[in-house]
Amino acid sequence: MKRTHSCDKTLRSAPKDETARSAEYLIRAGYVHKEMAGVYDFLPLGLRTLENIKTIIREELNAIGCEELQLTALQRPEPWQKSDRWSDQEVDIWFKTELSSGGELGLAPTHEEPITDLMKTYIQSYKDLPVYAYQFQTKFRNELRAKSGIMRTREFLMKDLYSFSADEKSHDDFYHKVEDAYKRIYERVGLGDCTYQTFASGGIFSKFSHEFQTIIPVGEDTIYYNKDKSIVLNEEVLLPEVLDEFHITRDELESTRAAEVGNIFTLRYKYSEPLDLKFSDKDNTEKTVFMGCYGIGVSRVMGVIAEKFADEKGLIWPENIAPYKYYLVGIGENGIKTAEKLYKGHEDEIIFDDRNARPGEKFADAELLGIPYRIVVSDKTLAENKAEFTNRATGETKLIDIDKIFK
Ligand code: ATP
Ligand code: MG
Repeated sequence: MKRTHSCDKTLRSAPKDETARSAEYLIRAGYVHKEMAGVYDFLPLGLRTLENIKTIIREELNAIGCEELQLTALQRPEPWQKSDRWSDQEVDIWFKTELSSGGELGLAPTHEEPITDLMKTYIQSYKDLPVYAYQFQTKFRNELRAKSGIMRTREFLMKDLYSFSADEKSHDDFYHKVEDAYKRIYERVGLGDCTYQTFASGGIFSKFSHEFQTIIPVGEDTIYYNKDKSIVLNEEVLLPEVLDEFHITRDELESTRAAEVGNIFTLRYKYSEPLDLKFSDKDNTEKTVFMGCYGIGVSRVMGVIAEKFADEKGLIWPENIAPYKYYLVGIGENGIKTAEKLYKGHEDEIIFDDRNARPGEKFADAELLGIPYRIVVSDKTLAENKAEFTNRATGETKLIDIDKIFK
């Protein structure tokens, strides 16, 4: 990408009401644009970053046999009325509107009901099971407080996976596969060593659900952990009977702030029962489908990564999810000519700063944007047929032979 051809532009300041460092940098660096509180546009750089996260999630879920689909954002009331989640008293974050032809509609805050209802068309027999279906969808939630930039918004991208199994045993086997896939996902996006699977309260039927919490000072949650015993608990389960069960006392646990980047739930029959999703089993008896749901806040993950790795100069993306790998700057006539040559054939991994601007300005942008490697070619480096190669994360700089840069 050439900066002269791109619509991105770095800004000197972000809206004053942005308190999170990640939000300030993401806006100033041109990854996102704020429409209003809790609502952000994803600009080309932001979208590429988001897509990289999606690709990792997609690869890991496909590898355990999941299939991608896409449900609608517009929701009719009926399936939600069956599970008693349509009323604003039960669910207080709905965005609803009215059809001009009459009748209510809602913007999906999640998709358990519509997918359970939909599966009635496709699941009748044990032969139709299991089904593991996921999507990347925009969710709408009228959150009371939209804060922390893209970490809590009113319109956000979620990956939601739903499993439909014949019985608890086959559900459990798949649940463990998802646990492992999630660990690989957080590892690959760069959050592996600061993300923990925690015990959380488990909704209505199952005792615990699991959350994936990334340790970060601006996190909204508090988690309690004991490293030696490998126990991590959410605040809401910090009850005497739970502590007993884990053979641990309150003062053996340390607390820290964390952000919920994903969760996995055994739903059992919570939705399949009221929505009447049944199948006929091998012995011809009619049974209710056993369900699970598994979420990842994709845009929140991007915000958490931005927050986690930033420094006083700007963003620092892990290589796997960075929108581009290299930030290329040519200084002087020969430097610019050589940069043009280097750019050719690598357009999809380089941001070529070909603007008519001072090197210092370009270097500052390279840092703000958080691109993993900066390449600078100038008369000075070319005298040795080399380029200056700087690692954004470590600040380490070295000279590399021009023809070995992309090897
Ligand atoms: P939270 O406790 O943070 O409100 P939740 O329990 O409502 O999360 P789910 O409904 O299970 O979360 O959504 C799945 C995932 O989507 C969460 O783990 C989180 O990463 C993300 N998420 C939830 N709400 C938001 C939001 N308002 N903005 C961005 N991401 C969100
Ligand atoms: Mg919530």
